Amino acid sequence: MHSVEEVQKMSVVAPATGEVIAEIEETPVHEVPFFYQEARKAFGTWSTLAISERTGYLRKLKQLMVDEMDEIAKIISDDTGKVLTESIVADIMPTLDAIDHIINHAEKVLSRQKVKTPLLLIGKKSFVEYMPRGVVLVISPWNYPLQLAMVPMISALAGGNSVILKPSEVTPLVGKCIEDLFQRSGFPEGTVQVAHGGKEVGAAFTSGKPDYIFFTGSVRTGKIIQQQAAKDLIPTTLELGGKDPMIVFEDANLDRAVKAATWGAFTNSGQVCMSAERLYVQRSIYGKFLEKLKKEVDSLQLGNDIDSDVGSMTFPAQKDVVREQLDEALKQGAKLVTGLKPSDWKEDMFLPLTVITEVEQNMKIIQEESFGPLLPVVPFDTEEEAIAYANGTVYGLNASVWTQDKAKSRRVASKLVSGAVVINDVLITVANHGLPFGGTKESGIGRYHSEAGLRIFCHEKAIMEDMGFMKSEIQWYPYKGKYPLFLNLFKSYFAEKRDWLTFAKNYIALLKSNK
Ligand code: NAD
Repeated sequence: MHSVEEVQKMSVVAPATGEVIAEIEETPVHEVPFFYQEARKAFGTWSTLAISERTGYLRKLKQLMVDEMDEIAKIISDDTGKVLTESIVADIMPTLDAIDHIINHAEKVLSRQKVKTPLLLIGKKSFVEYMPRGVVLVISPWNYPLQLAMVPMISALAGGNSVILKPSEVTPLVGKCIEDLFQRSGFPEGTVQVAHGGKEVGAAFTSGKPDYIFFTGSVRTGKIIQQQAAKDLIPTTLELGGKDPMIVFEDANLDRAVKAATWGAFTNSGQVCMSAERLYVQRSIYGKFLEKLKKEVDSLQLGNDIDSDVGSMTFPAQKDVVREQLDEALKQGAKLVTGLKPSDWKEDMFLPLTVITEVEQNMKIIQEESFGPLLPVVPFDTEEEAIAYANGTVYGLNASVWTQDKAKSRRVASKLVSGAVVINDVLITVANHGLPFGGTKESGIGRYHSEAGLRIFCHEKAIMEDMGFMKSEIQWYPYKGKYPLFLNLFKSYFAEKRDWLTFAKNYIALLKSNK
């Protein structure tokens, strides 16, 4: 497709060690139309396969991933700096579980569904059909580079679409690995294509008129993509950032809540869209909680060996975001419970795990996504105050509520403007593929996982069937003499207590008036 001189190469630097570990060829922007051409050609065949045939390919993909799980985990860890345990638990496992879920449910969810037909439409049958959209463009981020690319891909494929993936340029090795996995699973040519490169490549594909865009990434890029998609009325799902609150009431299981806050805030170095980014603790237990939290956080091991708890940051620019938020908060009077001020940080990509207090609700550290190992802790007095704090940002992806009082936990959960809420645990909704996943407010548009995650990639088509025996329908022309009959028909039909006799009399009269 292109001469060797034209090819741009991206150097892959392992964030945990700073070493250059590979070079990946960037996809030239002028190849975008060729990708779409191939994808459309492949769609012609792929879309005609039975769902069971498509899931047959997913089975092969799953087996290959099971066989090569250790190798894939190492690629993810090299590319992201996350510890191996997190690669396997939080990136590979959810992908495999999603494949399993789709294999088991796609047939039922995507096949023609019968819908009840009201009595007024007597003699007809109603159905919903799910028709694949065409070419789905998936654009994915670097923090869980496997699952956030593969789950939308396999969902779109199950529905009969062909897929183009543009993985994050920050983790191109995982992008290459995904390309390789699909290729070796034997998917028909052009059904799955992977384009490598940064935002220019992403932008070129976005304006290449796909039939659907599934984007996961920052609010900033999400808004750019939505604007571009609007020009061609391309439907989108946007899975964007979060600033997730964790609310701990005084009657919570304290030790569990402390461990959960530590894991929820610092897993993957805090680079999780659903991580606990704001901790609200009821004032009566605030001091005790902070003491336990500091102890727990200080016990974690940073590193990149097999037993480490927290790995490195992945993306150098993310360090600057965390630095800026922390500097601003400290300058305005916030206090470190544990961690270091940015001027004392080392040069490498391992950031100290930082807990901070005396923060105000209007600070960046509370209002803006940190996406790093930074946990501000704020005391609250009443349930209403905690809810107002939690709802007080532009985000609404996930939240957690901690209390032993079931009624209170459910009451508070219902009042949080959030795509998901976990009670007495953190983050875990994402692990149940049967639950919908997505954000409110600036955390995004749309849902995936669950039934919704398969159906969004299809046109939902309403179908009504009539046997076609009758010459005419009662509401067709001519209208002469029909008004009083319809008046009596609808009055009897929609009355609180249905008057069947009047209904039948007028219905028959209408049928007769058709002759
Ligand atoms: P990002 O927006 O910088 O990049 C995401 C992807 O978009 C990358 O592949 C990038 O190359 C591409 N891109 C960038 N500019 C583009 C443009 N103009 N047109 C088309 N594509 C473009 O995000 P990131 O830094 O990779 O990821 C971190 C963000 O993702 C965080 O805000 C995080 O909260 C969010 N995120 C959300 C979820 C979720 O499910 N809601 C999950 C993980 C991450």
